[in-house]
Amino acid sequence: MPKTSRGTTMHPISLREVNVVRTSDLTPGMRRVTLAGPQLDAFTSDNGLDQPAFRTDGFDDEIRLVFPHPGQSEPLLPVQIEGSVRPADEGRVLSRAYTVRRWDPARGELDVDFVKHGTGVATTWAERAEPGDGIHFFGP
Ligand SMILES: Cc1cc2nc3c(=O)[nH]c(=O)nc-3n(C[C@H](O)[C@H](O)[C@H](O)COP(=O)(O)OP(=O)(O)OC[C@H]3O[C@@H](n4cnc5c(N)ncnc54)[C@H](O)[C@@H]3O)c2cc1C
Repeated sequence: MPKTSRGTTMHPISLREVNVVRTSDLTPGMRRVTLAGPQLDAFTSDNGLDQPAFRTDGFDDEIRLVFPHPGQSEPLLPVQIEGSVRPADEGRVLSRAYTVRRWDPARGELDVDFVKHGTGVATTWAERAEPGDGIHFFGP
């Protein structure tokens, strides 16, 4: 197994809600979704825990986007705890890992590039995403 000599930084893991600002098809098989919202700044979570502003330093930093289970309109969210999240008590959180493609702190915009591979929880969401749609994520 190859190893890396690159240092790794663990950020506190915050659950944030953001909105789609725009989408663009980079190629027929790749859709870029740009996300933004006040919770990319420092904020206080619903259960009263202070969250730092979103931060990402690594080219391969990943976030986990949270989706509703099929047939549900709202996602089951993980629970914010100090510095991290824990699974929901009610069941399995449906999430997918995505790489932070671009983070522009000045504009408060976060790009995620989705491979359009047909049918799948995340790829279907990206295909249908429109400006204003909300989504939660945690990480990086
Ligand atoms: C650290 C990490 C970072 C990642 N970053 C990205 C990213 O930036 N962009 C990105 O698009 N994905 C990324 N992925 C993959 C992503 O997490 C999902 O697994 C993937 O997009 C499929 O999710 P889905 O819900 O659409 O499909 P699922 O519902 O999980 O799968 C549905 C079907 O689609 C097939 N499938 C899944 N992915 C592909 C694919 N790429 N091509 C063809 N068939 C596929 C599955 O085998 C399955 O049969 C990353 C994964 C990891 C672990």
